Amino acid sequence: MNIILLGPPGAGKGTQAQRLVEKYGMRQLSTGDMLRAAVKAGTPVGLKAKAVMEAGELVSDEIVSALIGDELDAMGPAVGAIFDGYPRTAPQAVSLDEILTSRNRSLDHVIELDVNEDALVERITGRYTCATCGKGYHDTFEQPKVAGTCDKCGGHEFKRRPDDNEQTVRTRMAEYRAKTAPILPIYDARGIVTRVDGMADMDDVTAAIEAVLES
Ligand code: ADP
Ligand code: AMP
Repeated sequence: MNIILLGPPGAGKGTQAQRLVEKYGMRQLSTGDMLRAAVKAGTPVGLKAKAVMEAGELVSDEIVSALIGDELDAMGPAVGAIFDGYPRTAPQAVSLDEILTSRNRSLDHVIELDVNEDALVERITGRYTCATCGKGYHDTFEQPKVAGTCDKCGGHEFKRRPDDNEQTVRTRMAEYRAKTAPILPIYDARGIVTRVDGMADMDDVTAAIEAVLES
């Protein structure tokens, strides 16, 4: 099964993707994570992407679609894909169709996380992750059970993203509204979109997504 998690920054895509990975053994394909890894490694893609990401703007369609194609090739045909943060523009949606078709995959569901934008700045400015395993946390909404220790791997180091500041978040939301939200009708026309209330408790959001996947 291949699915897209769609929603503005802070909607809960990464949180829910991590849970689906644990439950179903699917693979999370986050272009944001791939780009951050490229920036950290100082690759040519990373060098191109760094300033764009810091500004909250979108990296070129060619770069992100190439990353997705490579990642799908590396994971083998039997594993389902969760697209998180991709596609984000109409050309990326077209590329994804080509990428999937050429690999004998099809798109089963698009889950739209429906959220109130006013809540997103708080979600994003309070977000942090385990530096060792990448598990996501939040200052208010999801703290480790033992303060300073990751629930998943026991790590003690945590990190925050440089673009998770209020000013950049506003640009990222504007980019979502202008370029990403308009791709929804493409999938609506295929009858594969389910809207899920992303303002609900994390566990309720997970249950709603699982119900779609198991329907
Ligand atoms: P995205 O991947 O869509 O940008 P995240 O999954 O990283 O969003 O979520 C952003 C922040 O909001 C994280 O710190 C996460 O812990 C928190 N969060 C996610 N879903 C919820 C929810 N349903 N209620 C409250 N906080 C949430
Ligand atoms: P994310 O981790 O999804 O919040 O993405 C962080 C940043 O990476 C975005 O603000 C963009 O600059 C860049 N990015 C991630 N995915 C894409 C994509 N599909 N298209 C263009 N830029 C992207």
